[in-house]
Amino acid sequence: MDLIPASIRPFMRAAFLPKVSEGDGALKASKFSGKPWLNKNEHWPVCQHCGKPMQLFLQLNLNSLAESIQGEFGTGLLQLFYCTSTDTDCEAECEAWLPFAKSTLVRVVQPDTEALDIEIPDIENYFPPKEIVSWEEIQDYPGSEELTELGIDLTDNEWDNIELEYPHYSGDKLSGWPCWVQGIEYPNCPVCNQRMRLVFQLDSLLENTISELNGVSHTIFSP
Ligand SMILES: [Zn+2]
Ligand SMILES: [Zn+2]
Repeated sequence: MDLIPASIRPFMRAAFLPKVSEGDGALKASKFSGKPWLNKNEHWPVCQHCGKPMQLFLQLNLNSLAESIQGEFGTGLLQLFYCTSTDTDCEAECEAWLPFAKSTLVRVVQPDTEALDIEIPDIENYFPPKEIVSWEEIQDYPGSEELTELGIDLTDNEWDNIELEYPHYSGDKLSGWPCWVQGIEYPNCPVCNQRMRLVFQLDSLLENTISELNGVSHTIFSP
């Protein structure tokens, strides 16, 4: 891309935008909302704050990602559950936008045992399921603040030239560069203390369904 100054080009990362179709897919499908794959010996995950069933926000089948990113985040199903209950305001009280919040659950399961046959429980603010049927690969670059942190100093003039078309994608995406809303805040892995990297940036569901969050992305990081 000619638009991008040479000093920035080395920071290009591939990111993948989900293409969806309406409706729930198979139990092991990649999807937003809908029915997660659960082990037959477990219950639907509940919020550690209010005890209500949490909503499946995202299930990613790591075995069937776009080919160029296959295996990058391991195998199995990555699942994000999120409490959307408003009477206890779990989102604010648990600071759900932070990693490891009590009103969220991020995990990877290996769906090689018998699955739990369960109906979707009553969940406040439940949004209709969408299956992720394919991925569109794009080029993604760090946001301006992160560029500065990476030691790149663009002149105002250089920045003016690229700003409008600068490929830093703020919506739902797999991999790529996180779009920070309030400053750069990479979490560290609680086990090895290494800085975590972006797996998935989830934006659209939150913006559409939970007004208080307005524009805050929930972001999944991996060790
Ligand atoms: Zn809750
Ligand atoms: Zn770690």
